[in-house]
Amino acid sequence: EAKARGKAAVVVYEDAIGRSRLDRLVMVDDLRGAVRRREIEVVYQPIVAADSGRIVAAEALARWRHDGTPVSPELFIGIAEESGLITDLGEVVLTTVASDTAALRAVAGASVGMAVNISAVQLRARGFVDGVARAAAAMGGADLTLEITERQGIDLDPVVLDAMREISAMGVRFAIDDFGVGFSSISYLADLPVHIIKVDASLSQAIDTDERASVLLRSVTLIGQSLGLDVVVEGIERESQLAVLREQTEAQYVQGYLLYRPMPLDELLTAVRADRAAAGLPVA
Ligand code: C2E
Ligand code: MG
Ligand code: MG
Ligand code: MG
Repeated sequence: EAKARGKAAVVVYEDAIGRSRLDRLVMVDDLRGAVRRREIEVVYQPIVAADSGRIVAAEALARWRHDGTPVSPELFIGIAEESGLITDLGEVVLTTVASDTAALRAVAGASVGMAVNISAVQLRARGFVDGVARAAAAMGGADLTLEITERQGIDLDPVVLDAMREISAMGVRFAIDDFGVGFSSISYLADLPVHIIKVDASLSQAIDTDERASVLLRSVTLIGQSLGLDVVVEGIERESQLAVLREQTEAQYVQGYLLYRPMPLDELLTAVRADRAAAGLPVA
């Protein structure tokens, strides 16, 4: 009875775009099948150095088609988190990235890292640390970053902290994603093994038109720099934003549609080849 109620609670409200309970129930079921059949796809968005524009890493982003129609990750990741599917979905993404890394290494050696989004619940799941260890081993020491979002607040539970410390000890790095829009205080930065902050796109949106927006971005990137963290700014769509970012902030890395959109693995390999050729580096 309690279990049945718990399950029902997953679908009790309508989401932001007004899907009904039934739609959502069907989606959970179909998503479960898709995860089991490993139909979750992964696309990659390059992360570049702000000064040179060179590709330094690629962020893996999950994609799911429901009856042929792409579903927004915000929606299906949310469904996966509520239904407990996120653990298996995350495992599919992580193993896909690990095997795609072999192709990336053939082109660029270890010079391009991989970043994978994870949900806070995964850090609490038994077996997650081992799964990351297996993926890191399969990646042969390539640089791997796990991105955890600040949106739902950062969990300082000892279980989570231990998992993060163990993973960090393997040489895997952590990034705080969507930095600057969380509900939590930022004091966790002093306690967690965090190496990178990814400044949310909402903070870079108006930096080329609004003086206060650029002051805010400058301040946030300065916090990261002062703590010795790498700073990535997300959501750069215009040359004028990139110019402000380069001239007025401490951010070393950028991500956004202006530079590259998320793309399938084969296009990523082409982009990395072109990037290396432009820099006069050997290309496989
Ligand atoms: P995120 O990790 O912050 O990823 C950045 C999102 O911004 C991606 O959306 C990306 O396509 C989009 N983006 C990149 N550049 C620009 C830009 O210049 N302008 C705008 N407007 N958007 C840009 P996407 O792929 O829809 O993913 C949304 C969110 O879903 C991600 O946000 C992440 O939180 C979550 N997500 C995606 N894949 C996974 C996954 O495998 N596991 C988990 N746990 N979460 C995931
Ligand atoms: Mg991310
Ligand atoms: Mg983000
Ligand atoms: Mg986001």
